[in-house]
Amino acid sequence: MRHKTILITGGLGFIGSNFLPFFLEKHKEYKIINLDKVTYAADVSNLNEISANANYNFVKGDICDRELVDKLFKEYQFNSVIHFAAESHVDNSITNPDEFIKTNIFGTFNLLDVAKHYWMDAPHKPKQDCENNRFHHISTDEVYGTLGETGLFTEQTPYAPNSPYSASKASSDFIIRSYYHTFGMNVVTTNCSNNYGPKQHDEKLIPTIIRKAINEEIIPIYGDGLNIRDWLYVLDHCKGIDLVFHKGVIGETYNIGGENERDNLYIANTICKLLDEIKPKTQSYKNLISFVKDRPGHDFRYAIDASKIEKELGWKADENFETGIKKTIHWYLNKYNT
Ligand code: NAD
Repeated sequence: MRHKTILITGGLGFIGSNFLPFFLEKHKEYKIINLDKVTYAADVSNLNEISANANYNFVKGDICDRELVDKLFKEYQFNSVIHFAAESHVDNSITNPDEFIKTNIFGTFNLLDVAKHYWMDAPHKPKQDCENNRFHHISTDEVYGTLGETGLFTEQTPYAPNSPYSASKASSDFIIRSYYHTFGMNVVTTNCSNNYGPKQHDEKLIPTIIRKAINEEIIPIYGDGLNIRDWLYVLDHCKGIDLVFHKGVIGETYNIGGENERDNLYIANTICKLLDEIKPKTQSYKNLISFVKDRPGHDFRYAIDASKIEKELGWKADENFETGIKKTIHWYLNKYNT
């Protein structure tokens, strides 16, 4: 079998480490190189299940390191890139935006520019055998800013990022766009809503609620708890990425979201209710919920119109929030050994 070689960045993070086992199992003809800097957000044990897979290789390194990225392209002659690596936590982007600008903007540019060097002879002229080489950029719905009570983000919604995180992701999306228009590179971008599921970093909302509840600590909820996100089970995101990577139209962007709008208080209450059933205590876990000072610039509502990927590529989320959260709680109970 002739292997296609794909560079995956940030594969030790939450989404990448859910994507890799799924993708390697589904596409046995691919050889994967995972380039990850192993920041605080990475967890090497996230990929124990594939560490012995002959089609998988790990390289520790920074996407901003031009020499390294160039060396990897030379050595492996990548046919494609699927780019997950990013600084991803909004709170950290408020206290320490520098890393977000470096990794999310410069790092994306660096990868794309090296790919251009290896794949293109001139603008709109791919090198021989590089015609189908694709750069898939993973992005977020946060680039669209915030919604009021109604409306949905479509691929036509103007960008209006509000946090340093979303501004850095928006910038990276524009760089990708420009390499399509200017150089004719084969790029696709997916903008996804909030993911949840196994292997998410402890700092994020859902793992925090589960961990604090089982440790019988205060469960902190920002502001009045009424901020709304469109929650998508991570494996449904991975399936969407797989579809767009293989079938998406060059230069296009696709929104991915589960039509599962839930506010933060609902999320906390649902997790507490399920824990009351699975691991009952003398009093309900709900009594641990406590409202804390809101995050500055906290976007009120995100919601995705996913009809483009549904109609054009046949994507559909398999989980809704209520089914996905049960799987998620069981995974974390196992992780936290309770
Ligand atoms: P994460 O923070 O869990 O993981 C990021 C990974 O990238 C880590 O393994 C980290 O070590 C690596 N990394 C960071 N900087 C790097 C660098 N300079 N060089 C190489 N590796 C580096 O993030 P995630 O939640 O898995 O998100 C993955 C992608 O999906 C990001 O681009 C994010 O913007 C996007 N996204 C995330 C969500 C979500 O809900 N988590 C939703 C939509 C889009």
